[in-house]
Amino acid sequence: MAKAKHPILVLAGAEQGDLRALEDYRRVGGYASLEKARKLGPGATLEQIKQAALRGRGGAGFQMGQKASFLPSPGQAKNPIYLVVNADESEPGAFKDREIINRVPHRLIEGIQIAALAIGAERCFVYIRGEYLSEYEVLSAALAEAEAAKLVSVPILVHRGAGAYICGEETALLESLEGKRGQPRSKPPFPALVGLYNSPTLINNVETIATVPKVIELGGEAYAKIGVKDSTGTRLFSLSGDVVRGGNYELPHGTSFRELIYDCGGGIAGGRKLKAIIPGGSSSPVLPADQVDLSMDFDSVQKAGSFLGSASVIVIDERACLVQLALRISQFYMNESCGKCTPCREGTRWIEMILRKIEQGRASMAELDLLSDVCDRVLGKCLCALGDSDAMAVASYVKHFRAEFEAHIEQGGCPYGDTSSLVGVRSPVDEIYRGRIGQEAAL
Ligand code: SF4
Repeated sequence: MAKAKHPILVLAGAEQGDLRALEDYRRVGGYASLEKARKLGPGATLEQIKQAALRGRGGAGFQMGQKASFLPSPGQAKNPIYLVVNADESEPGAFKDREIINRVPHRLIEGIQIAALAIGAERCFVYIRGEYLSEYEVLSAALAEAEAAKLVSVPILVHRGAGAYICGEETALLESLEGKRGQPRSKPPFPALVGLYNSPTLINNVETIATVPKVIELGGEAYAKIGVKDSTGTRLFSLSGDVVRGGNYELPHGTSFRELIYDCGGGIAGGRKLKAIIPGGSSSPVLPADQVDLSMDFDSVQKAGSFLGSASVIVIDERACLVQLALRISQFYMNESCGKCTPCREGTRWIEMILRKIEQGRASMAELDLLSDVCDRVLGKCLCALGDSDAMAVASYVKHFRAEFEAHIEQGGCPYGDTSSLVGVRSPVDEIYRGRIGQEAAL
């Protein structure tokens, strides 16, 4: 974690060690915000969250207060109101929710109780990624302690997923939580009106909810002064890839990629050059190295043609073949497509097949144009964001690094030969295709 001048909010108090025990969390002022919220009452608590302009940390960046205001008021709702916490952290590059749960589980529980109070929820659910077994155990132990101390007035159920990336999509998550196949629903209706078990439901990510106690402690207005306009507060940036010190760094929005990569992460080993940055997990379009001084906030990254998403920053140095990287990413999305809608189910396959052909030096220039065409046909035509993620990410590699794609075609193979840092980084999909070389020839 960064030892910096910047305010630490979500991980506050955990600088010297984890705050898993209730006693330790209490020692740093834990659950005082819940007490404050109870005194404020639901309306004033929600107002603080709105004033904080707290944007969702899961990917879409929608303001939590605004999202909550779409819910019916408890007196008007025909069905019980639910709060669902999305802890299905599966985006390649993201590992911040896992750290929050591991190090400050009570801050999440406190945030859940405050948010439940603010919206009048009758029950709360945490949908946690199936592979996060130790985090599930840490959270369950903390919850048992909080319940025993009578700090939990709105019941919380922790449910383990079964490892599907698509269950991080909010409506697929609801389907899965209801015991059905985890596939996205058509929207509208949105979960705020018809959510879990047809009830009004607020869904927010772990980091968003774990920020709520600090919003109440500081007050919405004071919180909104941290960070930059329209991207308030701090963020846990998951830094990984070709960097000396990867890890989660809590920094205010508005910090530059350069500060994160070089000041916090120690730069790139061996003095190698930065080639590209993936700013918000594998689904976000890649940025070339000349964007290193860009501010890490929602609007700046969007203006640069990408999005901050889950703030999972992946650093790529000069050794990487970006055709291989695009292929690896497309294989992930093809594999995780739930198959419910045709543009994604078929499009992700086509994108992967053409990319594989380019990477192996078997494609023509016309097929490079075909790749862009397929991306266009997927984009904006899918039921959920997964298909778009694949198309947008792949199109960005072609846009910024087209010369590398053309070199593969002209030279009949990878110009990096065996020297690319991605050689040997294999996807399970590679293994599947190894036995299908005959079918590849048909493309
Ligand atoms: Fe499923 Fe892909 Fe369609 Fe989403 S876009 S519903 S993942 S097939």
